[in-house]
Parts: sequence; structure tokens; C-alpha cells
Amino acid sequence: MEPKDATKNTGYMGFTNSACPFMPCHPGVEREFNCLFCYCPLSANECPGPYGVIIDRNGLKRKDCSACILPHNGYKRAWNFIQRWLERPTFWDGHEQDPSRIKDPAAD
Ligand code: SF4
Repeated sequence: MEPKDATKNTGYMGFTNSACPFMPCHPGVEREFNCLFCYCPLSANECPGPYGVIIDRNGLKRKDCSACILPHNGYKRAWNFIQRWLERPTFWDGHEQDPSRIKDPAAD
């Protein structure tokens, strides 16, 4: 098996499940729709997405990520975004997102 940093095949970076009944779940995606991060790996961590905060049925704070396209906007772009934010993960403490921290999905 070839290590990821040696292969030119980028098939592991994403895929589109066009048969999904929830497609398109996040409006505004401009590139290939990346379904690999359907459950965003950053949901329990600090992130630069435009999330809202909801209280679930157990009284726990959760992110509402409906308005976020960062993990879905392109195969390579979304892959690189997630890898970057997993390098030094910091637990999210339930705070509301600071609008000045929200990343523009079109910017690198
Ligand atoms: S706001 Fe976006 S980046 Fe942040 S956890 Fe939700 S889907 Fe992931």
C-alpha cells in the first residue's frame, strides 16, 4: 500500500453520494460536494465555521452546522481544511461563535 504523502491518487480526499436523500444538505457549495465529512470531525472542537448553538434533548449544547459548507466545499479543499484544524485540536466549550472568527469558504 502506498503512503498518502507519496501517492498522486487523491481519491481518499472525498466523494459525493448523489443518491443521498438529504442532498444538497448544505446550500452554497461551489465545488465538488464532499460527503466524506458528513459528520464533521470538528463538531466537538473549536472551528471557524458559522455554527449556531442548540440544546439537545439531554440538555447538552450542540453546534447547529446547517449553514456551514467548509467540510463539503470540494474534495481537496475540504480535506486540507479538516487536516489543518485537526493538527492542534482544542475542545469546544459550548460558546457561541464569534462572528470575527468565521472563515470565508472562498478564501484559502
Ligand atoms: S461549523 Fe462547520 S467546521 Fe465547525 S463543526 Fe460545524 S460543520 Fe464543522
